[in-house]
Amino acid sequence: MGKKFSTSLILFLLLPMIIVFITESEITIDNITIFQFNDENGNIYDGSVKIENEFYKLYGGEVEINNSLLYYFDVSTNNLVSKGDVYAYLINNNVTLSYKIDIHDNTSNYNRIPIVVDSSDFKIKKYDMYRYNNSLIKYNFLTECSWNELTKFDKAFDEISKNTILNFEETNETAQLYISCFDYNNKNEEGNYILGKGAPSWYNDQTKTIINGTVNLYKQSEAKKCIKYPVTEIHEILHGLNFAHVDKEESIMHPGIGGDLCTEIDEDIINCINSIYSNSEINCNNVDFILK
Ligand SMILES: [Zn+2]
Repeated sequence: MGKKFSTSLILFLLLPMIIVFITESEITIDNITIFQFNDENGNIYDGSVKIENEFYKLYGGEVEINNSLLYYFDVSTNNLVSKGDVYAYLINNNVTLSYKIDIHDNTSNYNRIPIVVDSSDFKIKKYDMYRYNNSLIKYNFLTECSWNELTKFDKAFDEISKNTILNFEETNETAQLYISCFDYNNKNEEGNYILGKGAPSWYNDQTKTIINGTVNLYKQSEAKKCIKYPVTEIHEILHGLNFAHVDKEESIMHPGIGGDLCTEIDEDIINCINSIYSNSEINCNNVDFILK
């Protein structure tokens, strides 16, 4: 009787340790992820991948990256978390394309990430300012967004197209803006909530063509927000259109926007977009750009 009790007691005490041991053994942080770049015709490209200001050369269109450079293990959630963005620089006929690769959390089990490059992206057609090829900009939702988020994105695209010469259209195919909604909060280093993030991701620096950009929206329940106007969505879409923050409280591109302030899109941004996309004289005052 006494022996039986102690055996089950030992098992009871060991069980949590076994569970911890099993979950930890699935984490392959030491393994290698291969990024593979080729175009639709199977051509491979020269170039490099940049992680935290270190460059890793591509051999035969591939580069092996140790996962410990890409992820860290977050003990509080028992998850792998990506350390940040990875950039690729691909070269063909003296044209360099820059590409931001979003590394998602918990994906270290993908030990090969194939990235297909569109060969026509290397064709030269020069602009004065970084812009998308077309004033009709297609967008694609990469994740599911809530009804509320979708409605606000709809309103945001309406608002920008109502005020500028740009038009927007949803697509399930190749898009210029890739939108993701995340159901978790995100904070910056100062501990303030980040409502979203956006930037051009894939661009040609010889022709100043933005090929695509990303717009991320984070869970907003903990944050103060403007409910009357899709201010956060417009702000993030404008980042995706290459607008950077400006240190002017009345601007929709002020970094603190999206609280209870419902700032409307600036006249200066409207004029700037219209001048860039009509190929007329550039009229961009009081704005700043991510790519210059
Ligand atoms: Zn911002």
